[in-house]
Amino acid sequence: MSSVRKSNVGSNLDARRRLPSVDRLLNAPPVAALAEHVSHDVLVDVARGVLAAARQEASSDAPPPLEHLASRIVAQVERILAPSLRRVINATGIVLHTNLGRAPLSVATQRAMAAAATGYSNLEYDLSAGERGSRHVHVETLLTRLTGAEAALVVNNNAAALLLVLAALAAGREVIVSRGQAVEIGGGFRIPDVLRQSGARLVDVGTTNRTRLADYADAITTATALLLRVHTSNFRVVGFTESVPLPALVRLGHERAVAVADDLGSGCLLDTARFGLGGELQEPRPQDSVAAGADVICFSGDKLLGGPQAGLIVGRREPLAALRRHPLVRALRPDKVTIAGLVATLQHYQRGEAERALPVWQMIGAGQEDLSQRAQRWAAVIARQSRTLEVSVRDAESAIGGGSLPGVTLPTAVVSLRPRQRTVEDIAAALRRVTPPVIGRIERKALLLDPRTVLPGDEPALLAAITAL
Ligand SMILES: *Cc1c(COP(=O)(O)O)cnc(C)c1O
Repeated sequence: MSSVRKSNVGSNLDARRRLPSVDRLLNAPPVAALAEHVSHDVLVDVARGVLAAARQEASSDAPPPLEHLASRIVAQVERILAPSLRRVINATGIVLHTNLGRAPLSVATQRAMAAAATGYSNLEYDLSAGERGSRHVHVETLLTRLTGAEAALVVNNNAAALLLVLAALAAGREVIVSRGQAVEIGGGFRIPDVLRQSGARLVDVGTTNRTRLADYADAITTATALLLRVHTSNFRVVGFTESVPLPALVRLGHERAVAVADDLGSGCLLDTARFGLGGELQEPRPQDSVAAGADVICFSGDKLLGGPQAGLIVGRREPLAALRRHPLVRALRPDKVTIAGLVATLQHYQRGEAERALPVWQMIGAGQEDLSQRAQRWAAVIARQSRTLEVSVRDAESAIGGGSLPGVTLPTAVVSLRPRQRTVEDIAAALRRVTPPVIGRIERKALLLDPRTVLPGDEPALLAAITAL
């Protein structure tokens, strides 16, 4: 027994000794060719790693051939060079999929962002005066015109907007929030935590399902800085519920000289009745909050607005001026690319073409008839070319997602794929490995692909990936 082990160790050592040197590996043709694409330091690092691994596994008396080692290096370098953030095809049917980057942008928005990235701009330069200007002016006029507010300000995202509002208007003082609205928005973003971070004190009133105006009124003291309303974006409480409408909250605030802030979440600028999302299903609109008299209103740029990630704040002149003076503004300010994209997106609303120009609204507005035709077309192509998949088309529901319209679904048609030999998880994983990766959703042992969220230009890539399975 022991002699066998000894002889193994002996041949291992031998195999290890016969591994090529780092230099020889670097000179192997496929590795040498990489020198153009990756720095020498990275190449040496990878070569050392591959050699170390080969040393570990040298179990037989023959070391792996040089070509094997070289191809391992090539594969590793390719992995290193591939960007981790990649475009994917969203076939989940969830329009504002937070994990998949929320809103796809309009063509004009993409162009504006590329232009801002390409060269210099008058980001903070007043062209008529020839002196320093403000980066906030570019969006302010658009936002005030679209919402009717007196003033506007943009920061990095809506979480930042809320933090700034609380820090600037309520630090060291009290903010009254309904218990039913002291919620978690997603990704661990909790209203009570943000409040604590801002230095304000949370005073929660009412109960989870019912809060009345008197609950707010009774809680107001000389320490009260704000009444905060938070839109419960990602869930719906049904049944025995009561909350205070914004106009009533505003009346109370103004009677008692306390400002009212409204965190809308999505901030939908359109009347969505024509999408079948009217009445109860209409997401709150910033212009309605302005009209109701809220002092400060904040919402996201990349939810139903359909633009780049940003936090938009609109409201009355004085509180907005206090926000602008706060040191956090500098830390939370958006970059030039975001500002350029936001301007282009808001211009679609100003021109009355948002529904046609913004992918988010095109997707929400897509009719079931059209979606069904697309699904039929995909199914026909797949059925013709694939023997390993059982293909069918069926009616299903798409979701809006991204903390907008919880529980609301849109009727759609999906392609359902059932693999004959492999598991459905297997084909879902295989589709995630192609370029660009295709993400669908699994339901009852079938992979469902919803055309609603697949950009028309991505269809050929999607079909090629499936037929290659
Ligand atoms: C989504 C959301 C936020 C956070 O917005 P981000 O733009 O994701 O930072 C804050 N409040 C509400 C009510 C939301 O729905």
